[in-house]
Amino acid sequence: MSEAAVPSLRLPAVHALLGEAAGQALVLEYGHEQAVAALRVLLDELRTALRGGGAEDVSAAAILARLGERLAAANASRLRPVFNLTGTVLHTNLGRALLPDEAVQAVVDALRWPMNLEWDLETGKRGDRDSLVEEQLCALTGAEAVTVVNNNAAAVLLMLAALAPNREVIVSRGELVEIGGAFRIPDIMARAGATLREVGTTNRTHLKDYEEHAGADTAMLLKVHCSNYAITGFTKEVTVAELAPLARERDIPLAVDLGSGTLVDLERYGLPHETTVKETIAAGADLVTFSGDKLLGGPQCGIIAGRADLVAAIKKHPLKRALRVSKLTLAALEPVLNLYRAPDLLPQRLTTLRLLTRPAAEMRALADTLAAPLQDALGDGYSVVTAPMNSQIGSGALPVELLPSYGLAVRAQPGVRGNPLGLLERRLRALPHPVVGRIADDTLWLDLRCLQQDQLPIFVAQLPQLVENKTA
Ligand SMILES: *Cc1c(COP(=O)(O)O)cnc(C)c1O
Repeated sequence: MSEAAVPSLRLPAVHALLGEAAGQALVLEYGHEQAVAALRVLLDELRTALRGGGAEDVSAAAILARLGERLAAANASRLRPVFNLTGTVLHTNLGRALLPDEAVQAVVDALRWPMNLEWDLETGKRGDRDSLVEEQLCALTGAEAVTVVNNNAAAVLLMLAALAPNREVIVSRGELVEIGGAFRIPDIMARAGATLREVGTTNRTHLKDYEEHAGADTAMLLKVHCSNYAITGFTKEVTVAELAPLARERDIPLAVDLGSGTLVDLERYGLPHETTVKETIAAGADLVTFSGDKLLGGPQCGIIAGRADLVAAIKKHPLKRALRVSKLTLAALEPVLNLYRAPDLLPQRLTTLRLLTRPAAEMRALADTLAAPLQDALGDGYSVVTAPMNSQIGSGALPVELLPSYGLAVRAQPGVRGNPLGLLERRLRALPHPVVGRIADDTLWLDLRCLQQDQLPIFVAQLPQLVENKTA
C-alpha cells in the first residue's frame, strides 16, 4: 500500500512545522540542528505508529507540542537538587557535605574569572596551587606540609605509590577496610605497587605483631580508620601513640588514613568525640590522609598532611599531576578552612556542623508544621505521624553513634494491597525536587534534620503534586 493511499500518513513537512510560530520558538531556544534532528525522529515514529494502525494526532500543533516536550526533557539537567530526608547527613550518594555561602560565592567567582591558581601574586612567578591552603591547613593540623588531591582514596593511592613502590606496608588485619564503592585497602595497595603485609588478627593486634615484621623491606606502617564498622568485645588495637616509637626507632614512616578527619574537637559542640587530624599528628603520625567533604564540611578532595620531606616526595610523583584538584575545589576549600579561624562560630557558619548540631526541638517544630500538609497530599491510603528518630553522621564518621532527631513516619493504611510504601517512595522521587527518605519496619521515615529553613517553602509548595503523581 503506497503512502499516498493512506491520507493519515501524509505528515506535515519538517520545514512547514518549524515555520510555524511554535516551531520558530523551539528553533530559537534549542537551535536549528537540534530541533530538526529531534523532529525527524518524532516524525519517523509517528509514521511507524500510523502504519501500525495507531490513532495519532498529527496536527501541527500536536506534533510541535510533543517536540517541545522532548527537547525540554533532553536538555534538562540529570544532576538535580533533592531533599535529603534519609537522616544521614553526609550521604555519599547525595553528594556529602553542603557548603556554606562563602564557598558558593568563591566557586562562582572562580568559574567566571581567571584566578591566581598557580601564579604567585607577590613575585609574579609560577606558584603552587597547594600553597593557597597549605598555611591554614598546617595551622589547623600541626602538619609541616600538605598536598590536596581529588579525594581521600586518591590521597591513599598517591601516598602509597610515592612512598612504598615494590616494598611492604604493614597493616593490622583489623583495619583492612572496605569503604563503599570499591575502595578496599588491599586493592589500593596492589594498584599502588606496594605489598601488603597483614599483621595481627581481625579482633586483636599487638605492638609485637608490628615489631616482628617491621624491617629493612618495610616502607610504611599504615593505620586505617574503621570508618563504617566497629569491632567490639575481645579486641586490641595498637594506637598511633603506641606505634610511633617503633616507627621512629626503625626509621619507617607511620601513616594514618583517618577517613573523615575532623579538624576540631566535636565534643565542644555536644557531638561524640572523633579523633582529630591534629591529635593524630601530635600522637606521632608522620602522614595523615582525610576527606574534604566529610566532617570537614568542604568540597570533595583528599588531603595529605604531615612531614615536609614526605609530602615533598609525594608531590614529585607523576600521579600527583593526574590526581590534582581544580580551581573550583580550592576556591571552595579555602573559605571553608577560614571559617575554622572562629571555632566558636563554626556551628552557625559551617553547614555540616550546623546540621549535625541542630537541636531535635527544631526538627520537631518542622514535623508539626508538615504533618498535616503531607497527610492531605497523601490522602486516605497513608497515615502520617510525627515521630522521634535517629540521624547518622554518615560517610564513615562515628558509624555507631546516633543523633536524636525528629521527623515524619508514614505508614500505609492496613489492608492496602500491593507495595504502597514502594509506590510512595516513587511518588516522592517523581517530584520536581525529589524527596529521599528511608524505608524500614514497614514505615517511610522522613528525618527533617537536613530540611533547611530557607528550602522549606520549596518543599511545601510541591506537596500538592504528590496527588497528581499518584499513578507515577
Ligand atoms: C571515606 C574514606 C575513604 C575514601 O575517601 P573518599 O574521599 O571518599 O575518597 C578512605 N578511607 C577511609 C578510612 C574513609 O573513611
